[in-house]
Amino acid sequence: MKKKIIVQKFGGSSVANIDRIKEVAKRIASYKRHRQDVAVVVSALGDTTDKLEELAFSIDAHPPEREMDMLMSTGEQISCALLAMAVKKLGFDAVSFTGAQVGIRTDKAHTRARIIKIDAHRIKKAFAEDKIVIVAGFQGVTSDAEITTLGRGGSDLTAVALAKALGAKVCEIYTDVKGIYTTDPRIEKKAKKLTKITFEEMLEMAALGAQVMQTRSIEVAKKYNIPMHVRSSFSKEEGTMIVQKNEKMESVSVRGITCNKSEAKITICNVPDRPGIAARIFTEISKAEVSVDTIVQNVSHTRQTDISFTVPKTELTKTLKTIRNLSEKIKIGDVSSDKDIARVSIVGSGMRSHRGVAAKMFQTLADNKINIEMITTSEISISCIINRKSSDKAVKVLHKKFNLERIN
Ligand code: ASP
Ligand code: MG
Repeated sequence: MKKKIIVQKFGGSSVANIDRIKEVAKRIASYKRHRQDVAVVVSALGDTTDKLEELAFSIDAHPPEREMDMLMSTGEQISCALLAMAVKKLGFDAVSFTGAQVGIRTDKAHTRARIIKIDAHRIKKAFAEDKIVIVAGFQGVTSDAEITTLGRGGSDLTAVALAKALGAKVCEIYTDVKGIYTTDPRIEKKAKKLTKITFEEMLEMAALGAQVMQTRSIEVAKKYNIPMHVRSSFSKEEGTMIVQKNEKMESVSVRGITCNKSEAKITICNVPDRPGIAARIFTEISKAEVSVDTIVQNVSHTRQTDISFTVPKTELTKTLKTIRNLSEKIKIGDVSSDKDIARVSIVGSGMRSHRGVAAKMFQTLADNKINIEMITTSEISISCIINRKSSDKAVKVLHKKFNLERIN
């Protein structure tokens, strides 16, 4: 009988120290006992990658990207070797491999490489020899034998790509939280762990600021329809399945609420209301490599208008400087900025087929005297920019109104 193949990825916090590594080894061994072939992907120990990055930056604020990859890829090489030792110590046969050794071929974009293909034969050979395979996450190799990394959080991507290459039925992502929650449990204690969420909802929540998994890994899992199981390495409890959407899942309109406090709002007053002005402003801002989000332009009655938009807080100073330079070339009025904002968003694939979701969100905020400064929507989300002070309250009242305490 063909054995079932499973891919399991353990994040940095799951292998933060030797005790944790031993725990993970036990868990892996228990799957092997069930006569399954197990391929494990590991991240670097704890915050090793951050530490390596700091070392590089202490030499050069812009280190050469090739050398950065040489450096950053070492973190995962350490953890995969240690984990293989720990598994062997339990009496199971295991072997560790770097990305290059298992044929994870990438393009040449150092520090943010894309996987082109995986030659899984070395892993399959190890399976045939009844070995547990442990692969260093986050890395690959180019056709010129140069080591690359896949962008921060890239071990998730390694895991999904391996699951695809090996034909695994599921890709398990072990982390330090129990799964995906309806909202941040630090804000709302009644946040509920979801049993299921769709790929597109997960992508939307990630784009809106929920930090659980590397976005690219979810995109790849969606493309190849590889279910992901996000669960805790500290408990046996089942986590959250990320799956393709189905009709039943669309019966709820809202599945999650995110709150993002990392943006700032800029308002430019009295902008001439004629073709080409907005283009001019946003071209200059994009030349400064600032990514702009929500943009609102008022209707003008006087041939002048106000434009407001949000930018990452870290880029506020740079953006204001760009606008100041621009004000020497086109006539604009006062420019103001506000760092005390938050983006509160509701997300759900079911929004497509439910009416009145936006109205319900706005009414709930109004009933709680929370003023909405800006609104944006996508097909499956609605976001309101509000004062930061009210954001926790907004999350709580919306969580209640949309019945998320009772979702499953
Ligand atoms: N160690 C890398 C990072 O911290 C990759 C990963 O953890 O997935 O970004
Ligand atoms: Mg990490």
